[in-house]
Amino acid sequence: MLNHRHNSIRIIDNLAEITSHHDRQVLEKSLLKTLNELFPAHGLRLFRVREHAGDHELSLLAFCVNNVIVSSDENPKLIPNSEHLSDALAMAIRNEDIELIRTDGDDGWHVIYPAFDSHDEVFAVLVHTTREPPSGNDQRLVYGILRVYANYLALIDRSQRDKLTGLFNRETLDEEITKILVKRAGDLSDINTLPSDTRRRSYAIKYWLGIIDIDHFKAINDTYGHLYGDEVIILVARLMTSGVMREDDIVFRYGGEEFVVLLRAPDEIDALRTFERLRQTIEAHRFPQLDQVTVSVGFVEVVHQQSPSDVIGEADEALYYAKHHGRNQVRTFEQLVREGKIKQSPLVTTNDVELF
Ligand code: GH3
Ligand code: MG
Ligand code: MG
Repeated sequence: MLNHRHNSIRIIDNLAEITSHHDRQVLEKSLLKTLNELFPAHGLRLFRVREHAGDHELSLLAFCVNNVIVSSDENPKLIPNSEHLSDALAMAIRNEDIELIRTDGDDGWHVIYPAFDSHDEVFAVLVHTTREPPSGNDQRLVYGILRVYANYLALIDRSQRDKLTGLFNRETLDEEITKILVKRAGDLSDINTLPSDTRRRSYAIKYWLGIIDIDHFKAINDTYGHLYGDEVIILVARLMTSGVMREDDIVFRYGGEEFVVLLRAPDEIDALRTFERLRQTIEAHRFPQLDQVTVSVGFVEVVHQQSPSDVIGEADEALYYAKHHGRNQVRTFEQLVREGKIKQSPLVTTNDVELF
């Protein structure tokens, strides 16, 4: 009895620990840590499930081997290597139920648990690899913990989104920019110590931030009313997320009729092409009652700036330029600086000196 109570206390402590984090990655590691404490030395893997062209695509989120928990931030498309297991995963997703199979080598078991989002869709699966088949109670325990994790994740997700459009909100933007700035600073300081092919590869990933502002939106509000204006905002938001960009690009609602897009692109030309495509998609769309809605875009690379507000400030300068040179166009901060059309702030250009 005492042992039983002791165990319950540990579980509660762990649940409290899981729900104390707001960062998805930390949350996932914390989930695996809890499960690992309950089932030490078992294999644990958490996969994200995404629907892609009518199929389910799996990517590894975090795993635990020999009591060490690893989060796979870079999302390698790590498909389970055994066909046996792949089939079982597909079955767990399709049947929305726990699946139990023997491992290929016949020396243990895989138990596969689906996790559900707020729309009752399977968004993740947990693979628990163990020597002995777990008891019904153990399965209920893991399943219950997974439900706490899923509910809490849904709650976090809701707090990060804008109510009107479902896009990420402004509060989330600063965090994302900070993550990129930290990562880029690390990349740049590593650059001389890395072998040249790695150097080239890590250099290939660049991040760009664009501000997108609807042109003459006040006139739309004034002519058709605020509610209709809201409809236009929803439609523009949908156009931006529907296939215009890559899966990893993030769209935020920054203000009333202003959006921010964070995207990965190898160079300025590629980023420009993406923002151009976005602008053209909106220009070409037929909105009810209106002939046309257009947007202006200003963008900049997220790389050496001192803070998120500096990044947004630079993109905003490029947007301002676009607004005053005809609207319905994309402008790049770097190009405007190169052409001497706007001045880069002295703090950035004397960056190296500032350090000493
Ligand atoms: P510009 O081309 O210079 O951007 O012109 P604009 O008329 O779009 O000017 P501005 O961006 O300064 O004004 C945006 C207007 O959008 C002001 C405000 O009345 C309206 N607005 C802001 N938030 C919302 C919202 O959530 N819903 C609706 N319907 N209108 C909003
Ligand atoms: Mg505006
Ligand atoms: Mg506007």
